[in-house]
Amino acid sequence: MSYPFKEIEEKWQKIWDGQEIFRAKPDSSRKKYYLLEMFPYPSGKIHMGHVRNYTIADVAARFKMMQGYNVLHPMGFDAFGQPAENAAIKNKTKPDIWTHKCIDWMRLELKKMGFSYDWARELSTCDSDYYKWNQWIFLMMFERGLAYRKASDVNWCSTCQTTLANEEVIDGGCWRCHEKVEQKDLEQWFLKITEYKERLLEDLFQLKEWPERVIAMQTNWIGRSQGVEIHFRAKETGVIIPVFTTRVDTIFGATYIVLAPEHALVKDLIQGKPQEKAALKFIEKVKKESKAVRSSEDVKKEGVFTGSYAINPVNNEEVPIWVADYVLMDYGSGAIMAVPTHDQRDFLFAKEHKLSMRTVIQKPENSRTQEPQELTEAYEGDGAQVNSGEFDGLANQEAKIKIAAWMEQQGIGKIQAHWRLRDWLISRQRYWGTPIPIIYCQKCGTVPVPYADLPVELPKDAPFTGEGGSPLGKVKEFVNTSCPRCNSPARRETDTMATFFDSSWYFLRFCSPEFAAEPFDRQEAKYWMPVDQYIGGIEHAILHLLYARFFTKFFKDLGMLDFSAKDIGGPATSCGGDEPFRRLLTQGMVLKDGEVMSKSRGNIVDPDSIIKHYGADTLRLYILFAAPPEVEMEWDERGIEGAFRFLNRIWRLGEQLPKSGGKKEVSVSLRKKTHRVIKEVRQDLETFKFNTAISQIMELVNEIYQNIDSDITEAVKTAVVLISPFAPHFAEELWQRLGNRESILKAGWPEYDPELLIEKSITLVVQVNGKVRSKIDVPAGISQDKIKELVLADEKLKPWLGGQSPKNFIIVPGKLVNVVI
Ligand SMILES: [Zn+2]
Ligand SMILES: [Zn+2]
Repeated sequence: MSYPFKEIEEKWQKIWDGQEIFRAKPDSSRKKYYLLEMFPYPSGKIHMGHVRNYTIADVAARFKMMQGYNVLHPMGFDAFGQPAENAAIKNKTKPDIWTHKCIDWMRLELKKMGFSYDWARELSTCDSDYYKWNQWIFLMMFERGLAYRKASDVNWCSTCQTTLANEEVIDGGCWRCHEKVEQKDLEQWFLKITEYKERLLEDLFQLKEWPERVIAMQTNWIGRSQGVEIHFRAKETGVIIPVFTTRVDTIFGATYIVLAPEHALVKDLIQGKPQEKAALKFIEKVKKESKAVRSSEDVKKEGVFTGSYAINPVNNEEVPIWVADYVLMDYGSGAIMAVPTHDQRDFLFAKEHKLSMRTVIQKPENSRTQEPQELTEAYEGDGAQVNSGEFDGLANQEAKIKIAAWMEQQGIGKIQAHWRLRDWLISRQRYWGTPIPIIYCQKCGTVPVPYADLPVELPKDAPFTGEGGSPLGKVKEFVNTSCPRCNSPARRETDTMATFFDSSWYFLRFCSPEFAAEPFDRQEAKYWMPVDQYIGGIEHAILHLLYARFFTKFFKDLGMLDFSAKDIGGPATSCGGDEPFRRLLTQGMVLKDGEVMSKSRGNIVDPDSIIKHYGADTLRLYILFAAPPEVEMEWDERGIEGAFRFLNRIWRLGEQLPKSGGKKEVSVSLRKKTHRVIKEVRQDLETFKFNTAISQIMELVNEIYQNIDSDITEAVKTAVVLISPFAPHFAEELWQRLGNRESILKAGWPEYDPELLIEKSITLVVQVNGKVRSKIDVPAGISQDKIKELVLADEKLKPWLGGQSPKNFIIVPGKLVNVVI
């Protein structure tokens, strides 16, 4: 007979709801703990990835609640986005109706898992009382020049029919549909995230409790590099061509320069040259290629000679000017100097086009300078300068600094930092998103919607055909409006915001979801922020996590945030007043048969079916026992059965306990085990080692069964409390049956008795050749080698051993040592 999980789970979900036990209210007398999972996109069903993410968080939340923290653990829905629109096209419904149906269904499923959410704080980003604040934030940024519109070459996904941010292009493909991304010249809205680049980079190093991998990914994405802008001169016209390099130590080896095909000077350089026609044709071709393909390591680099030359300012040498696909306008000034001997890409390109080379850095292990024709690849490492004029003989790292300073002094170069980070493109040509609150007037130009007119509501309906541009552009009542300044007929912006805008600040809205004066109540945010523990997927390492940091810094600059790590106490407080997430955990994926669960692979296990057969508690316990949170876990049905059997084993103990009477003796070894487990489970929970915490509890349960004839009350109660964050319904029910009237959440987290963890010593009788000569006290569990050492050091034995080294030791553990001499 298994325990009645179905009744128990329904019963406790109702009780928790009725008692509003997870309702969070600010209370300055208590330490707060803000625990957050990356909120889901409401696709309709929760999957195992959700279950894993949210169970990890729920265990942490319940553990903190039982430790007495005032825990904020909210849940909501990242509800705008393309799938709703696609569903509307496919099923002839409206995105609004479809999305709300999905939300209702998902909420139900989340409740069935017994998660400890404060549902009173639920929010959906597609509701106008949420997205109104997106528009408000946009206008605040617009006023400060941080939101602007410009025409530029942007990423375009033809499958999704929309533009994409650089962060949304992954390996040359669209982050959503994985199709190849093209380039298009369009006028679009951008957020000036680059204004915050220094802070976004420097503050990363405060985030001591973030995974190193995420820090490295963001550092790399922001991509600061120190270098020199060198002023090459076009030979015929004398026009300066600025070229950025991080390797100014190799300037004497620059044998050609390369411009991006889009570079403004290219036209002048090729004009009237025999190469003009071929160059124009090449430029047209490259324009259609995506940036990702052009900068990819595996694709062969192509280029053409412009017919013009430039002067290298350090040695007045003439070098040919080329145009090539691998140089992008994004980087530096869209022009590079090429040093084939010390840059592998330049090396391959020079070989292909038979361009000259010169070695300027000598490998430390070589006794002479390698001639370029001897090279099979570029040497990119350190060494001594050669062929570099007055800098010959210097170590190249030193030369880097000296050459840069010398060039500045000569007025032929400038020391500069370059950044990889670009402004964030937020316009999307889709319907299901926040309307950008801008009006275009023939007389006044671009006019922001007045704050008092917010929200600009998204019309509930639009023609969803999947063709012919944004559906919003076809809704006349929406598009046609009047100018807020001069009242003449005007037109609304029909682009909507990227959904990553919505998720850049939702953690602040959770602090006061109904606040009507501003995006969030400053006082409430002061109490709850920052998020103490954030949990979500590594796929957001750059996108969402970078944008959220940017928004938090923006709010700080507006004077709306006033929290500091020092206010919180608790474990190591590292981040300052403008970092939103103190501690980050990125959970691993759930695999089946070695692959990620997905519809197309047909290897999905539906959480619902597991709940039906075994209950939510078993699913929760299993998913945390199977692997540490950060690593991938392989789904194994046998593990589910094991978790279920384990809960039943505890259940039987709980059933037995009230009947077993109180007259039995207490087992010292069981008490010791109980307290050691209390200590270790606590450490494991604090460090998110949930799998080892569970195995500790399993060991305790085994020990209870071994001592079943003694008084097991304390041990069983402890096991029930310790298992409660993992299997909360189960534990609540047993707790009640053990005679407790309040929720187990109020039971407090058990403290261990340090006395019980001290290992007692034992006394060994020591004989020499069979005769008792001494007694020594040793710690329990001591090794035989250690015993021999102590015996030899015993003063009382010295006369009997007479300085000889013994022939043998006969050790009877725990009792006696006989030394044979
Ligand atoms: Zn796409
Ligand atoms: Zn006007």
